[in-house]
Amino acid sequence: MELMTHRGLFDFESNRETKGAIHEGLWLHEPEVTSEQYERYFLNIITEGERAGIRFTGLTCPGCACEACKQRYTALRSAGRKEPNPAMWRALLNLAKQGKFRSRTVPCFFEASETKFGLHRKAVDGDCAVCDLMPNAMDWFGSWGNTPNRVNPDYYITADGKAGIIVRHVNAGAPYCIWYSHWQGLNPAKGVGWRAFVTVIERIREHLRDRVVWMRPSDITNRYHAAGGWSFLDRLESKGL
Ligand SMILES: [Zn+2]
Repeated sequence: MELMTHRGLFDFESNRETKGAIHEGLWLHEPEVTSEQYERYFLNIITEGERAGIRFTGLTCPGCACEACKQRYTALRSAGRKEPNPAMWRALLNLAKQGKFRSRTVPCFFEASETKFGLHRKAVDGDCAVCDLMPNAMDWFGSWGNTPNRVNPDYYITADGKAGIIVRHVNAGAPYCIWYSHWQGLNPAKGVGWRAFVTVIERIREHLRDRVVWMRPSDITNRYHAAGGWSFLDRLESKGL
């Protein structure tokens, strides 16, 4: 469960989305926002989650192609600001140190790529770390539009277990395969991607059982941070996992 949405900033005092507010993903890139402002906003979300019995794991940067976001992203990029505001990493680290997340390391998802992978520690203090952990597979479980033509289990793994992005990553020895999805498409009640998701899990169990270990993203960042790199994967392999 991740913190950010595709909507505008929420006003926690009046308990509603502020009309015309900047979208949350773009706000993570605005250079003037302070670490304290980020921390307060994230804490408001975390507190709401606690009321509902939900502990958050990390943060996803929601993309947005609305006109306002597109224009502002272009302006930021041409001013040389391609990365999110570093104050945001510091705010997340502070919250991790206060035990506000599910674990001491906080996986975040900014860039995604089907060919590159990467885990980058953005803020560190002792056993706490905020990491940008790049997803290396996309959403073919209906996406945010809950769209049937965005559903394709074969994208992940085909019925014969011979093709698909998960198979490619496993065969290439990538340290992980992380895909992301949107609750609109994935939820079992109304999501058009739910059946495909179940199919993908069944195919992984059938064809890749001996070659994968399931982990939460925070398991990956915890172990990576403790080991100082990917060496923890060698130990999993030597145990035959
Ligand atoms: Zn937008």
